[in-house]
Amino acid sequence: MLTNDRGAESVTGKRLPMATGTKGRTAIERRKDARKRLPSWFRTHLPTGDAQIAFNDVRSNVLEHELNTVCQEAQCPNIHDCWGRGTATFMVAGEECTRACRFCAVGTVKDPPPLDQSEPENLAEAVDLMGVTHAVITCVNRDELPDGGAAHYRACLEAVHARRPDIGLEFLCSDLDGNLEALAALLDGLELRVFAHNVECVPRLDTVVRDHRASFDQSLKILQEAKRLRPDILTKSSIMVGVGETDEEVIEAMRRLREVDVDLLTIGQYLAPSPRHLTVDRFPEPEVFGIWDQAARELGFKAVACGPLVRSSYRAGLLYEEAKGGPVTLTYGEPRNGETL
Ligand code: SF4
Repeated sequence: MLTNDRGAESVTGKRLPMATGTKGRTAIERRKDARKRLPSWFRTHLPTGDAQIAFNDVRSNVLEHELNTVCQEAQCPNIHDCWGRGTATFMVAGEECTRACRFCAVGTVKDPPPLDQSEPENLAEAVDLMGVTHAVITCVNRDELPDGGAAHYRACLEAVHARRPDIGLEFLCSDLDGNLEALAALLDGLELRVFAHNVECVPRLDTVVRDHRASFDQSLKILQEAKRLRPDILTKSSIMVGVGETDEEVIEAMRRLREVDVDLLTIGQYLAPSPRHLTVDRFPEPEVFGIWDQAARELGFKAVACGPLVRSSYRAGLLYEEAKGGPVTLTYGEPRNGETL
């Protein structure tokens, strides 16, 4: 999850709301205040060269066709970086979630409206028109449904693939309330590059950070079963830091993810979306992210994105390519391919 009042993507990929002015302060003033409180290393860089051209093309498509993505609705600061490298994130299954995690600004609802049956085709059209090469599809939890929304998620992914089989698909899934049958139905024969599910935090902090129905163990179970069912699909998970964990606990969480053969890892800084949300506990310095990056690679993750601004879908297409033997695309510390985070 990302910023305070700016509203941005969580590491779950969920949208955070736009800021609204309160108590006499405008939204812009509050955003400025929030930025001032952030450490100096929270800087983004505009793309150059081919990445800039690609970003401009994607943005033109978005404006021309009035497309909606998590990236722009959440005002994600990585938007130039990701769009310029062919990745964008879309959310399905509704605007509100049946969970109430303390880090997430997506609204909570006990009985959400029925699923939109036209969503698969609308999503496919949006992904098609956008002009990206790797689409991350994320979702809200639908605990009120017997299959946790699995059939609908699948319909969305199938519709995109049917329309644009050349676009790589990554699905950032809920935990389906631990329903392994629903997971099997979702993944059976599905065309997918990456199955992602986020543990969000170290296990000790489950009850502080996540909804009471979520847990590290249940998330591991989903990731492990996904790998067992579909060893041909890469699995991926994300950890937020700054919610009360220790450095050692982050390493231990990575170890446990590797024990169930998770392939891809992202680690990013948590930023409270509003004063009502979980307070930020700390801002690890960039060098600490560098240590975690190195540790993750040594533990055997096939690709890693680790840095303060990293979100679970950050440069997702490049991360996939790296895992498939492509160049290392991002890291802290030593520049690789001319880039650092
Ligand atoms: S990290 Fe990248 S893909 Fe994810 S929301 Fe932000 S801009 Fe979009």
